[in-house]
Amino acid sequence: MKHIGPHVSASGGVENAPINAHEVGATAFALFTKNQRQWKSAPLSAENIRKFKANCQEYGFAADYILPHDSYLINLGQPDNELLQKSRDAFLDEMQRCEQLGLTMLNFHPGSHLSLISIDDCLKRISDSINWTLERTSGVTAVIENTAGQGSNVGFSFSHLAQIIDKVDDKSRVGICIDTCHTYSAGYDLKTAAGYEATWQEFDNIVGMKYLRAIHLNDTKKELGSRVDRHDSIGKGLFGLAFFERIMKDDRFNHIPFILETPDDSLWKSEIELLQQMANH
Ligand SMILES: [Zn+2]
Ligand SMILES: [Zn+2]
Repeated sequence: MKHIGPHVSASGGVENAPINAHEVGATAFALFTKNQRQWKSAPLSAENIRKFKANCQEYGFAADYILPHDSYLINLGQPDNELLQKSRDAFLDEMQRCEQLGLTMLNFHPGSHLSLISIDDCLKRISDSINWTLERTSGVTAVIENTAGQGSNVGFSFSHLAQIIDKVDDKSRVGICIDTCHTYSAGYDLKTAAGYEATWQEFDNIVGMKYLRAIHLNDTKKELGSRVDRHDSIGKGLFGLAFFERIMKDDRFNHIPFILETPDDSLWKSEIELLQQMANH
């Protein structure tokens, strides 16, 4: 069985996210627990927290299949020390929100070197940032998302992900989210049958399958190795339906959430139906 759902809106309060997910037939979902384009947001109220937990329970969403995403402003590999601390404080706040909501994972983009420091230095800063945050929290795993490698973003190569994990002290609380669009744009050919197997084999060799905590299932508008991040709706981009069939029938991914970050929310319900059909036939 596969757990699939979109990154839903939490507008009007986090408690609306599980309702929005249920309405499109989801069995997993992602959300922002605060405004993703602002540094500061009001704290979650006791009412928000209570209703969020009640709605998750009512619609059958366990924490294992809920993947909150952090703010786009946070850069845990930030070269400037003062700005790095600002990012760490914001990341800690996001982790604490997860703790309050009873969630067990926080998905984030590793960071950017901004052409001011080396990739290695940037990766080291990210590991240090994860350690700093994990020391101040409990029960929430830091889930690093691989990137397309646009601009100065690190984390497009599996070796970057391995390097970050290597310097994290508590390896039980660090994991990986593989974004299929980013993976392809970064140069890993997930599309063909042979490329699909080779890519997962390489991920297992370099990072380790045991770290895989989630998949962002997106089609892609851009060609292999483009290093450009452009998601597309399922079956509308370059992957083709055979790729989605293959991943839906892959039993290695039965116990992690598949999150759709596809651009047309009017298609979410039918995308989920199509994918569940592929998984179950
Ligand atoms: Zn992301
Ligand atoms: Zn993603």
